Amino acid sequence: MGKHKIEVKNLHYSYPDGNQAIDDISFVINPGESVGIIGANGAGKSTLLMLLMGIILSDSGKIIVGDVEVSKKNLSTIRRSLGMVFQNPDDQLFMTSVYDDVAFGPRNYKHSEEEVKLMAEKALELVGISHLKDRAPFKLSGGEKRCAAIASVLSMRPNVLIMDEPSSALDPKSRRRIINLLNSFEHTKIITSHDLDMIMDTCQRVIVMKEGTIKAEGNAMEILKDEKLLDSCGLEMPLSLQNCPICNMKYR
Ligand code: ATP
Repeated sequence: MGKHKIEVKNLHYSYPDGNQAIDDISFVINPGESVGIIGANGAGKSTLLMLLMGIILSDSGKIIVGDVEVSKKNLSTIRRSLGMVFQNPDDQLFMTSVYDDVAFGPRNYKHSEEEVKLMAEKALELVGISHLKDRAPFKLSGGEKRCAAIASVLSMRPNVLIMDEPSSALDPKSRRRIINLLNSFEHTKIITSHDLDMIMDTCQRVIVMKEGTIKAEGNAMEILKDEKLLDSCGLEMPLSLQNCPICNMKYR
C-alpha cells in the first residue's frame, strides 16, 4: 500500500445493545495530514477509531483506505497500512522485553529475523528508546511505555498512525516529548484527545464529534478558537487560548 487517502462515507454503527454510536459520518483524510478528532465523553471517538481499524465493522456505509475497503477479508492489508496506538500502553505491550514487543509485528508478518531486527531497531531509534530495548515493558514509566507502544506500531511501517489519547496520564515533560515526537513523524496522523492544547500543537485539521455525528470540521486553529461551537459540543477552548483568570491576558 502506498500513501493513501482515507475516505469515510455515510458510516453507521450501533452496538449490539442497540446504542447508536456512529450516525451517518463522512469525511476524507488526505495523505500526510494530521487530523484531530475531538468530542465530549461518549461522542463516538473511540468507536470511530475501532471502525477505522476494522476491530468492529460498520452496519452500513464504507471506509476506504486507498482503494481497499475495510472489511473482514481485507483486515490484514488494512492493518499493514493503519497502525493504532491504544490509549493504555498495557493493552499493547505483552512480551517480556521492549525489543520483543517492537519485533512482534514484523515477526508476525513472517519477515526474516534479519529484517525483523532492522525494522525493530529502526522503530526504537525513531522513538528514541533504543536504550530501553532489553527492559521489561511492565517495569517502564508511563511515558516510556507510551514510547514503546508507539515503536511497536512504527516497526510495521504503517502509512497512517492512529492515536487514542496519546497524552493521557503523562507528566508535562513526557507529554511535550510525545508532542514533539508526533510532530517529527511524516505519517498521516489521526489523533483523538481531550487534551485540546495537544491537538492544537499536533493537528492541522480538526473534526468535532457530538452524539455520533460530525458537528464541525476545519482548520484546527479556527475550530479551537470557536468558543460557541466548542461549548455546544461539551468542550472548552485549549487552556493556552483562554485568558489568564488573574490579569485577563491571553497566554499566547
Ligand atoms: P470518551 O471520550 O469517554 O472515551 P468516546 O467519544 O470515545 O468517549 P465512545 O466510547 O465511542 O465515545 O462511545 C460512543 C457511544 O457508544 C456512547 O454512547 C457509549 O455509551 C456507547 N458505547 C461504547 N461502548 C459500548 C458498548 N460496548 N456497548 C454499548 N454501547 C457502547
